[in-house]
Amino acid sequence: MAAPSAADYIQGVLAGDRNILARAITLIESQAPAHQAKASEVLQALLPQTGKALRIGVSGLPGAGKSSLIESLGSLLLDQGYRVAVLAVDPSSTRRGGSILGDKTRMPRLATDPQAFVRPSPNSGALGGVARKTRETLLLCEAAGFEIVIVETVGVGQSEIQIREMVDFYLLVMIAGAGDDLQGIKRGVMEMLDALVINKADGDNLKRAQAACRDFRGTLPFLEAYTPGWEVPALCVSALEKTGLDTLWQLILDFQDFMQQEQRLIHLRQQQQVYWFESLLKEALWNRFQAEAGTKYQDLRQAVHRAEIEPYLAVSDLLKHSS
Ligand code: GDP
Repeated sequence: MAAPSAADYIQGVLAGDRNILARAITLIESQAPAHQAKASEVLQALLPQTGKALRIGVSGLPGAGKSSLIESLGSLLLDQGYRVAVLAVDPSSTRRGGSILGDKTRMPRLATDPQAFVRPSPNSGALGGVARKTRETLLLCEAAGFEIVIVETVGVGQSEIQIREMVDFYLLVMIAGAGDDLQGIKRGVMEMLDALVINKADGDNLKRAQAACRDFRGTLPFLEAYTPGWEVPALCVSALEKTGLDTLWQLILDFQDFMQQEQRLIHLRQQQQVYWFESLLKEALWNRFQAEAGTKYQDLRQAVHRAEIEPYLAVSDLLKHSS
């Protein structure tokens, strides 16, 4: 089959055709220069149709129950008539073409319902690249008419910041631990949240989950919130028994109302646009600089490593010789 033209991609995505959407995402993920030009054309043309979805980020350590929670919450939303897309970001991912099968077991309803769309993360490139493509994929999903886009990430370091900067509402999924609930996550992550859920609040674990929730409710007010004026709630859910999900969804709707006031959402998204502009610019300049500085950079790096030159002097030296 011949590759679709840019116009085919644009029309197909706007028509909400999931096959074309999947192919447009593959185009965006491609490293080939010819594809990149076409991808830019498609993205630029679709840009006016983006921005309408509620963007939700979900982070948490492996095993916390992110996939289960997204499947349960997503099913509830599908039942309410929403179209839901899920994008997974896993920088350590070794999932390949066969990942569709993986998603069918991880999120059986979302992976098969015609009103849903699940896409694993691109499996090549540095984290910055993966996150950039995830953001562009999010935009394509919006243009394809998905009203809710959930971006899932495995809770490891840098990826949370990148996800935080592409979503409206950011949720951390945790489970009640063995006494050290608060120590387990970095303060920096706590300060990026809009809500925290303790999952697996069921069976023998219910009491522990409720105690963990109370602990967090005592601590969260003392942390600086990412979204000024919003009080970060903690609540118990069970993805398995589907309890607490209505409360969680109501909370997200309350947040959406809050963001509609005083143009908060507009400001947030403007700020995020600028974040991506600057972060991509830094990355591009850094790559270009390293390529141009060549061995001089490597030599000075080694000299710094051996403590033969102060880092500041090495930087001055390097900048003197470049440009
Ligand atoms: P992820 O790695 O964060 O995506 O976690 P998964 O959704 O794959 O869940 C990890 C394990 O926890 C699986 O065996 C799930 O069946 C189980 N699990 C997920 N949610 C719940 C829950 O609410 N209650 C209980 N008891 N188990 C759960």
